Amino acid sequence: MQREQIIVVKLGTSVLTGGTDKLDKAHMVELVRQCCELKKQGHQVVMVSSGAVAAGREQLLKSCGTSLVDKQMLAAIGQGQLIHIWQSLFALYGVNVGQMLLTRADVDDRERYLNARDTLTALLSYNVVPIINENDAVATSEIKVGDNDNLSALVAILANADKLLLLTDQDGLFTSDPRTNADAKLIDEVTHINDELRQLAGGSGTSLGTGGMATKLQAADIARRAGVEVIIAKGAGSNVILKCMSEQLPGTRFLKLTAPKDGRKKWLLAGPKSNGQIAIDTGAISALQNNGASLLAKGVTSAFGDFERGDLIDLIDTNNQVIARGLTRFSRSEVNKIKGAHSKNIAQLLSYDAGAEVLHRDDLVLL
Ligand code: GLU
Repeated sequence: MQREQIIVVKLGTSVLTGGTDKLDKAHMVELVRQCCELKKQGHQVVMVSSGAVAAGREQLLKSCGTSLVDKQMLAAIGQGQLIHIWQSLFALYGVNVGQMLLTRADVDDRERYLNARDTLTALLSYNVVPIINENDAVATSEIKVGDNDNLSALVAILANADKLLLLTDQDGLFTSDPRTNADAKLIDEVTHINDELRQLAGGSGTSLGTGGMATKLQAADIARRAGVEVIIAKGAGSNVILKCMSEQLPGTRFLKLTAPKDGRKKWLLAGPKSNGQIAIDTGAISALQNNGASLLAKGVTSAFGDFERGDLIDLIDTNNQVIARGLTRFSRSEVNKIKGAHSKNIAQLLSYDAGAEVLHRDDLVLL
């Protein structure tokens, strides 16, 4: 008997429309049946559903443009329709659903993040299936996550999920593009995400959805750091959701990494916007990565951006790569005064004693 798990099922527009320009309700009911079967087995299901824009286009019965405002309008029309369909399909199985529309801003702000987390947890505790989408009707690029792959990774963190299923129109990640290369092979398991893999993932795949393999890889990268196993599989496959729970997977599985237990660190992994950057030297990088140490002023080489004490900042290496992020104990001007200094001289440089740690290890996550 499997342990009860929290499963996030992300359904892309291509899965919900079967590649057509209409929602495929016959397939949607099939996906609902599988989600309800998981619930019967004792698991909890969270759904991240695209398809608002596609549903809006179907409803409008008139062609319209593809500008941002057109899409916002279509999402406003389609989201109600989409949730109505999900609601009636889950009702066939006596299961209630609850809609949550999120934007980046709901995750970036710690207070709002905790609110969203509480709602999600409450829905699950009442056996309701949360159905989540980006709040496309009002989300401008400033506050948008932008694609539902990345959104589903954030949802998996919020829900403290065990598994994230990214269901799409491809069987998974291939060694090359299967649409143009007959020799392309499915990659069963990924233990390490590197630049080579990112190159393989390429760009966006469909015209109705926003995602592609590239955003799926980003999502997998975020979720697995938070201790979530990620599976990319073909949403049209028979019993795909149920099969993803077994070892015989029809897709690409990304093994999870050991996640921080601390809730604040998980929030940091959800990638709220940083206010600045602190560049650190190789000695500091190795102390952080190998000894789990805090960042001392001695290891800081420079600071960028406009940040105050307690703000979120990225730590970058000599190649400008972000290697960690966390909450700084000093403002930018203070960091500039103490960078490179030995711990015993800091109080004198600042004229007050605020300790020697620029970022405490309890306030940072390695990426
Ligand atoms: N939120 C969009 C929609 O519901 C889809 C975004 C995506 O496919 O990534 O239509």
